[in-house]
Amino acid sequence: MAYSTLHQLADKLDSGDTTAAALAQAFLDRANAHNGDLNAFVELDAESILAQAEASDAHRQAHGARPLEGLPIAIKDIFCTSHGRTQCCSNILRDFHAPYDAHVITRLREAGAILFGKTNMDEFAMGSSNETSAFGPCRNPWDRERIPGGSSGGSAAAVAAALAPAALGTDTGGSIRQPAALNGIVGLKPTYGRVSRRGIIAFASSLDQAGPMTRDVCDAALLASIMSGHDAADATSVANAPAVNWLTSCLRRDLTGIRIGRPKEYFVAGMDAEVRARVEEALSTCAELGAEIIDISLPHTEYAVAAYYVIAPSEASANLSRYDGVRFGHRCDNPDDLLDMYTRSRDEGFGIEVKRRILTGIFALSSGYYDAYYKKAQQVRTLIRQDFAEAFAKVDLIATPTSPVTAVKLGENRDDPITMYLSDIYTIAVNLAGLPGLSQPCGLANGLPVGLQWIAPAWREDQLLGAAAAYEAATAWHQQRPAAFDDANQGGVA
Ligand code: GLN
Repeated sequence: MAYSTLHQLADKLDSGDTTAAALAQAFLDRANAHNGDLNAFVELDAESILAQAEASDAHRQAHGARPLEGLPIAIKDIFCTSHGRTQCCSNILRDFHAPYDAHVITRLREAGAILFGKTNMDEFAMGSSNETSAFGPCRNPWDRERIPGGSSGGSAAAVAAALAPAALGTDTGGSIRQPAALNGIVGLKPTYGRVSRRGIIAFASSLDQAGPMTRDVCDAALLASIMSGHDAADATSVANAPAVNWLTSCLRRDLTGIRIGRPKEYFVAGMDAEVRARVEEALSTCAELGAEIIDISLPHTEYAVAAYYVIAPSEASANLSRYDGVRFGHRCDNPDDLLDMYTRSRDEGFGIEVKRRILTGIFALSSGYYDAYYKKAQQVRTLIRQDFAEAFAKVDLIATPTSPVTAVKLGENRDDPITMYLSDIYTIAVNLAGLPGLSQPCGLANGLPVGLQWIAPAWREDQLLGAAAAYEAATAWHQQRPAAFDDANQGGVA
């Protein structure tokens, strides 16, 4: 049962085979048994989880089932929840209790979901490996000597090891899609503005977007259908966004008439040969399913990483100025004066990568350098958007690898930020352009999962889900499990 999808668990709950309380207990047992191996959860409050599950069973009895009735969903530590701690895996927010639920958390609760713990992440979502977490790195269930990716590494590892059936992540430059790829699960980043950012701790506000991390495409659609919708309290949440028929999109089984773009800039030297082979094989499968594969160009791709690593730190430097030791979070002991309190609180509270981003951002925004860096990066952003607009005049969807490599060893890139930043090459342009993107499993390379990334025009999540569902139905990659966490595998730790 541990490796069931949300829709399979919903069937079991509906038929009376199990209860929300029994389900919550089963996942708690697994999470308690295995979290020591992975460090996927930084908070797991059994009492609150079981109380929610009992309330869900009572609700089902009295009023029938809501769309996510009794389904446990793990929550990245970046989402504010009125119960328990919200720490963004930073010492500056250690033991912080948020005063309210994020908009998406409210929607999940109203749909009957069980909030199942807080998952590990890179500090303030800055990273691609989960190694910047103040709570220590999370490990990849496929090989515990390796990174789970990031920043939503805990959410991805929890789902891949079946410590939870699904999780929430956020994606500013790839943080849903890349860890999904590296753990062999599905991750969906919706169109910017589709999901409210209220109550999600801000990293780079023009890029941040929340989305689901799941075992299959249908579950991603199910969660996205609940998470999305206008919120008047988030000025960037779009009112009257084009609607998506989330669940029927997942019924697609062939790709006849679908034009898939293959950007030449995404298949270049530097990517792992095995990763490339798996993605090429996936494209062949799509062709067999009826798609037309068309070579396209996204000519400004090579500038995406540089533009992102100016824009995201600039926005972060502004967003993180609120952690000043006064209103929330850590305050240093015995400050001499106000300035000493600000500087020491921030020095003690922020980790090295967060400090690097704040300093880079402040530099890029400073009066002498604004035009040379920030303004230039915004101009590049416009060119990247135009690249996609021109491509989508010729194709319905774009298919690429999600990451140039499979999961690297813990520590391999930790002291080399440039190499770490370059690993975001395939995911970052999607955020700069505000487009929806999805990563799904497309095989193994050297025993580790490889992700296939789909990119669609704004608001066309139906196209993403349709193509991903057709590919998923024709292959079995999404059913691969990390041996050490598979109950059926007697040699594993399970
Ligand atoms: N890896 C990227 C970064 O470090 C993206 C992170 C994210 O999407 N939150 O900024």
